[in-house]
Amino acid sequence: MSSSTNKVAIVTGASRGIGAAIATRLAKDGFTVIVNYAGSAGAAAKLVESIEKAGGRAISCQADVSDPQAVKRMFDSAEATYGGVDVLVNNAGIMKLAPVAQTDDALFDQTIAINLKGTFNGLREAAKRLRDGGRIVNFSTSVVGLYQPTYAVYAATKAAVEAMTHILAKELGSRGITVNAVAPGPVATELFLDGKDQATLDRIRQMIPLGRLGEVDDIARAVSMLVGPDAGWINGQIVRANGGVV
Ligand code: NAP
Repeated sequence: MSSSTNKVAIVTGASRGIGAAIATRLAKDGFTVIVNYAGSAGAAAKLVESIEKAGGRAISCQADVSDPQAVKRMFDSAEATYGGVDVLVNNAGIMKLAPVAQTDDALFDQTIAINLKGTFNGLREAAKRLRDGGRIVNFSTSVVGLYQPTYAVYAATKAAVEAMTHILAKELGSRGITVNAVAPGPVATELFLDGKDQATLDRIRQMIPLGRLGEVDDIARAVSMLVGPDAGWINGQIVRANGGVV
């Protein structure tokens, strides 16, 4: 472990992908980490085990972020176990793509429920309960900026998350709590790779000035910076971590 703090961080959607890398990094930074997941109990337990093996502190917590009561219970249990919460990383999200003409109600409703309402559910609890001086990091996407076909509903939820980020930063500033968002470009996770053939991946890679897809640790490093002591004056910002794609 590189440093020690008594601070507590909830990372939503931390069983896999970017969230798992964030949980690992924040534990290394000295945070006690609540590894939230929806269905992947085994992956979350394995991650907690590997964090503890490396000398960090973590517990897993099942909560579907789209369920306000489940999110409330997650904060209740973090407070009961650790005395309070300092950081919320609102990372959980899904990405289902379709042209608008082929988008059914189920895709629309599920994407809104998890990406937008799920983020809101976390923000509402955090706004009431985060300790003074805390940090919130939301998750947008660089698709807000690129606006490619088939991303309409996904991008709409993330544009809404960006709007809430700016507003909540103004609501919580007086308590020394910063609210920012990270907007990754393409990162090689299940969410991004699902359904894309090699030609599509090559085309996307060529769009990125730094010449490669993002890795989960690229994003975890950005989150580590935003929740760390050197970022106290960064507030209400959207950080596009994307190799320069937009
Ligand atoms: P991922 O590999 O598909 O992982 C998604 C994570 O979110 C999993 O841990 C999953 O938990 C969790 N999750 C999904 N629905 C949930 C729910 N209802 N409640 C709680 N947890 C839930 O995705 P990722 O690529 O790491 O993406 C993480 C975030 O980055 C998302 O907000 C995404 O929009 C954003 N992003 C990703 C990219 C990219 O290229 N990968 C680019 C821009 C933005 P279970 O395992 O339990 O299902």
